[in-house]
Amino acid sequence: MTLTTATLDERVAADPARFRVLTGDRPTGPLHLGHYLGTLANRVRLQAAGVEVFIVIADYQVITDRDAAGDVRGNVRELLLDYLAAGIDPRTATIFTHSAVPALNQLLLPFLSLVSVAELQRNPTVKAETAATGGRALSGLLLTYPVHQAADILFCGANLVPVGRDQLPHVETTRLIARRFNERYGPVFTEPEALLSAVPLLLGTDGAKMSKSAGNAIALRAGEDETARLIRSAKTDADRHITYDPIARPGVANLLSTGAACLGRSPGSLAAEIGDGGAAALKRVVTDAVNDTLRPLRERRQRLAGADDHLREVLRAGNARAEEIAESTLRTVREAMGMSY
Ligand code: ATP
Ligand code: MG
Repeated sequence: MTLTTATLDERVAADPARFRVLTGDRPTGPLHLGHYLGTLANRVRLQAAGVEVFIVIADYQVITDRDAAGDVRGNVRELLLDYLAAGIDPRTATIFTHSAVPALNQLLLPFLSLVSVAELQRNPTVKAETAATGGRALSGLLLTYPVHQAADILFCGANLVPVGRDQLPHVETTRLIARRFNERYGPVFTEPEALLSAVPLLLGTDGAKMSKSAGNAIALRAGEDETARLIRSAKTDADRHITYDPIARPGVANLLSTGAACLGRSPGSLAAEIGDGGAAALKRVVTDAVNDTLRPLRERRQRLAGADDHLREVLRAGNARAEEIAESTLRTVREAMGMSY
């Protein structure tokens, strides 16, 4: 089941302790506006409402679609800076890397037995990600990473997963795995729900999904002039009358959704206000909205940039807590499977 923030807010406010959030990112580069509007702002909002937040830095998943992990250490640092700058509070949130939590990775073994190869091959996001590698052979890790994601979510008992639209099939796989495990071995796992934001798929400057790896992203850490330049280069169309029509005018609609999300308004009302101003006026409005929204985050990020000892400590503490929880879950799983000797 997929929730939107509107349907969730009341339930969270009534009892935040009922919820636990898990979500994460690959350390393939700094976070971008798609992350902020798609999931990061929701993580911060839920944390502020009193929900416990877990964030996985999916370092093993960097090599799903490439031969080397690249500057993974530098990219992990960039993610930590983005999280803390966005307002994730390491005193209550748990930030960890896959590679530092062996017990989590071990959950993959029983979980892999619960899905068929045919089911994994049908996953539309895995298909799209394989196609994006330009004909590269599908690796076993890319095929099975949704199962890895199930381990990320289920090891800590998360029931809420704030994600962009591309991750919905993976949350479905997680629900399937939880259900099948419980049917086979007894009730251990809760089926999580995906949480979509108002901008579940932000397009990049080239009109395709904004991605760290695609060179089409507006990084959160970008300067204000760079942001303006990138938004000016975004694909739009020649019609000067601005209307919100995601099917016929995806580029214009994408900018309207971005501006509207930053301003807390509806894309339609923003379009009506810009009227016949054309793409140039639209881009000016969106640039100001994005820069105003990100200014506090960017200022915090600059202040954090020299705090490497603090960043290392945040990750060390997060890894230790994640491993402790994963070991406990793994013990429960082994017991349920009759493997406690
Ligand atoms: P990469 O190109 O390395 O795959 P990415 O930009 O796709 O990077 P991920 O680390 O794969 O980022 O995704 C992290 C989270 O951010 C996921 O929940 C994903 O759905 C969300 N997300 C990523 N890109 C967008 C986007 N353009 N719009 C909305 N949400 C997004
Ligand atoms: Mg991705």
